[in-house]
Amino acid sequence: MLKINSNYSKIKPTYLFAEIAHRVAQHKEKNPEAQIIRLGIGDVTEPLCPAVVEAMHRAVEDEAHRESFHGYGPEQGYQFLRDKIAAVDFAENNIQISADEIFVSDGAKCDCGNIQELFSADTRIAVSDPVYPVYVDTNIMAGRDNIVYMLCTKENGFVPTPDDIANEKPDVVYLCYPNNPTGAVATKQQLKAWVDWANENSSLILFDAAYEAFIRTPEIPHSIYEIEGARKCAIEFRSFSKTAGFTGVRCGYTVVQTEVEALDANGVKTQLKPMWTRRQTTKFNGASYLTQRGAEAIYSPEGRAQIRSTIDFYLENARLIRQAMTSLGYTCVGGVDSPYVWVDVKCSSWEFFDKILKSANVVTTPGAGFGAAGEGFIRISAFNSRENVLESIERFKKAL
Ligand code: PLP
Repeated sequence: MLKINSNYSKIKPTYLFAEIAHRVAQHKEKNPEAQIIRLGIGDVTEPLCPAVVEAMHRAVEDEAHRESFHGYGPEQGYQFLRDKIAAVDFAENNIQISADEIFVSDGAKCDCGNIQELFSADTRIAVSDPVYPVYVDTNIMAGRDNIVYMLCTKENGFVPTPDDIANEKPDVVYLCYPNNPTGAVATKQQLKAWVDWANENSSLILFDAAYEAFIRTPEIPHSIYEIEGARKCAIEFRSFSKTAGFTGVRCGYTVVQTEVEALDANGVKTQLKPMWTRRQTTKFNGASYLTQRGAEAIYSPEGRAQIRSTIDFYLENARLIRQAMTSLGYTCVGGVDSPYVWVDVKCSSWEFFDKILKSANVVTTPGAGFGAAGEGFIRISAFNSRENVLESIERFKKAL
């Protein structure tokens, strides 16, 4: 009989959100009148901006007529979108990325998950603890369970350094800034240390910039490519999900530059870009035309202003949450340049989660669900209406 990929048995069950849902359902059963506010999940709440909606309507109209109909598109994305990305996200910030180094996809989750297919089975990877679980689980599925965990603690400001893994020598390091779940950001100096380390050790950085649009502090880098030397040693993932409310529409992109290389079976240096092209053209048929026309509109002057104002709105929510928790005596990370506030709750994550659920009817995310080093913290998300955020703050003041 068929045998399963036994690596799947090694993945931890997706306990976190199932357990949260279970506890919330139990609470609701006992308290049917409770008005529950969810500051737990990382989904956006504001609708698509008008520029995107209009562009998508126009794209539907294109699809309605033989002359302007689009069937299968290029797997790597339409040129009109790749050109805009190269010009606005990179050239405007003095980063030279050519459009053919940009691979448009249906979101960063797939790309972060799929990229490891390019690496040999014995590749050693390093991730942060706490961590966005996709990096870990996709490697375990591929049989790589010898993972190096880089602790994010108060001591290192929640940004691990190469010194933290000096004896481990991983081949690949996943970095995510602004970070999910901690909301921490990395400075140029911190990223420079990683880029230098990667170049010295012939290692690769996988840089997840899904939350870069939340950065408002001028000195904080938006892209790993702002760091000298990163062209040779880093792949970057971007997402329109939080940038432009595309969590349901689905679009993102990955930058794989020509200079990024790894060894083939004969020890000869090989470019990763043609491999990623091959992977995408074999297993992916492109993001839809409608989606990419919508994404293109984010780069119009109106689109840019509209998405910026929505992000400003979430950032103000984050600021209010952080300010409230700080004034209640809790130490917080994030909430600045990030939609997540990471709160040191001075007790177990789940204990605090239950307390705030039962006494304030607010759902948060226990930090322990993102890794052992998340114990003692909760993540509060700023993705909600102002009304709900202000109401939650009032409830926190009474409950805590
Ligand atoms: N990377 C991080 C760190 C995330 O938090 C998320 C979504 O929550 C993603 C990637 C996935 O983004 P997308 O919606 O583009 O798949």
